[in-house]
Amino acid sequence: MKMLNLFGAALAAALLGASLPASAAEKALVGISMPTKSSARWIDDGNNMVKQFQAKGYATDLEYAEDDIPTQLSQVENMITKGAKVLVIASIDGTTLTQALKQAHDAGIKVIAYDRLIRNSADVDYYATFDNFKVGVLQAGTIVTALGLDKGKGPFNIELFGGSPDDNNAFFFYNGAMSVLKPYIDSGKLVVQSKQMGMDKVGTLRWDGAVAQARMDNLLSAYYSGKHVDAVLSPYDGLSIGILSALKGVGYGSGTNKLPYVTGQDCEIPSIKSIIAHEQSSSIYKDTRELAKITVEMSDAMLSNGKVPVNDTTSYNNGVKNVPSYLLNPVAVDINNWKKVLVDGGYYKLTQLQ
Ligand code: BGC
Repeated sequence: MKMLNLFGAALAAALLGASLPASAAEKALVGISMPTKSSARWIDDGNNMVKQFQAKGYATDLEYAEDDIPTQLSQVENMITKGAKVLVIASIDGTTLTQALKQAHDAGIKVIAYDRLIRNSADVDYYATFDNFKVGVLQAGTIVTALGLDKGKGPFNIELFGGSPDDNNAFFFYNGAMSVLKPYIDSGKLVVQSKQMGMDKVGTLRWDGAVAQARMDNLLSAYYSGKHVDAVLSPYDGLSIGILSALKGVGYGSGTNKLPYVTGQDCEIPSIKSIIAHEQSSSIYKDTRELAKITVEMSDAMLSNGKVPVNDTTSYNNGVKNVPSYLLNPVAVDINNWKKVLVDGGYYKLTQLQ
């Protein structure tokens, strides 16, 4: 009878097309270390991963570090102590985990850098992320099209914002954007009145919206009396909302004083609402369900000595080695396609955006 049941279960699984849980996966613990709950995307990332890892038979330990480096370090160390078989880490500062990861490696634990590259460590096995350079290219591309720069229009004033200088992604976003904007800046069709360019000048530590708002306040009062800023390159929705507050604070968006074209990233709900209200101009959609899915596949393959899915082995050098990566495709979202991409795509319900 018991035999029959087992046979029946195996047959049912085979008929359903479901693979039996790899023995390696059975209740193996996965430590998931996320940077902060202050941005909705990381909450989605964490929840998606827990759901998908558990569906495959893994146990999970999900921790958030509230953007505090020592907290993330001790959370990772705890996961190692608890016997995690895989660590999935979206780091706060990509250079601060070297010692802990060495300890993990010595204990045979696999490490996946999640979304953000972990730098200066030989002990990162794989990297799951989006095409970060392309994020910047898309952000800048929306500015070029909206201003008509590609049709020879201009000159326009632009100000540039970068992400957190301790996050490797911030450089990819900025460099991607500048690969598109620089020719227009060089030809004078785009003018950075503040002359503030380069990540050392435009970076925003810890992706802090209040810091971006304060910097935009300063730029407006120092460089824009009697001038109009026409576009702002913002790498992340949380910064865009701060930048828009600064702009509205000095009268942009009322009467004939048009808000500049302001980019963003992550398609967070406040920013999609802002796009619908014709304030923020665009954002970048990164489907965190897909990132969770590929991360689970990578973990599964590593633990069962299978073939780990990667599609890029050259773009991401972490200072010690090229980390084999899987890059997903980011998508630009604006007033014209938000509904199709985000609602029809099942990422949000329409009611969440109203
Ligand atoms: C992520 C972005 C996010 C930013 C701020 C980056 O590492 O790739 O999606 O906007 O961090 O949280």
